[in-house]
Amino acid sequence: MSDDLLTIFKETGALLEGHFKLSSGRHSDRYMQCARVLQYPQHARFLCSRLAESFRDLNATAVIAPALGGVIVAHEVAAALGIRAIFGERVDGRMTLRRGFAIEPDETLLVVEDVITTGKSTREIIELVISRSATVSGIGCLADRSVQSLDLPLQPVSLLQLDFPNWEPSECPLCQNDIPIISPGSRFNR
Ligand SMILES: [Zn+2]
Repeated sequence: MSDDLLTIFKETGALLEGHFKLSSGRHSDRYMQCARVLQYPQHARFLCSRLAESFRDLNATAVIAPALGGVIVAHEVAAALGIRAIFGERVDGRMTLRRGFAIEPDETLLVVEDVITTGKSTREIIELVISRSATVSGIGCLADRSVQSLDLPLQPVSLLQLDFPNWEPSECPLCQNDIPIISPGSRFNR
């Protein structure tokens, strides 16, 4: 993990230390909220241009992300590469292209995210690209906090590899020390 990148996430409050209840119900001593770093355009630009360097030789024609978390990342990666950025969004639970966005059959796309946790949104975007007879040549994210195999066709490129410990509540050492817990969903909703 690169220290200068980690510092940006910490200084903007995107990477929090404490006692958190995750959406899975498990407890952790750290929490990532990427929107807090992406609210600063200069940080968004810097981080996404770093990510874009990994993809420069792939000659992609567009970057695509799942809304809402990936939209700024797609925009800034695309800006660094001089290509266009689009996003997919769920309509009745199904990942869809709206707003006049189109993917042509011969295109090569990059799929990006802010944080990859389970890879579900990323997989849905890849399926959307493939359904248009286009190709995915790269997957990228600012932070990878996946704990299990992601079942993706390509290995994602991630700026930060987050290996947060997490526990069942009954085994949480922070609970055992009576440290107050925060549900990030209430204050840091993703
Ligand atoms: Zn706990």
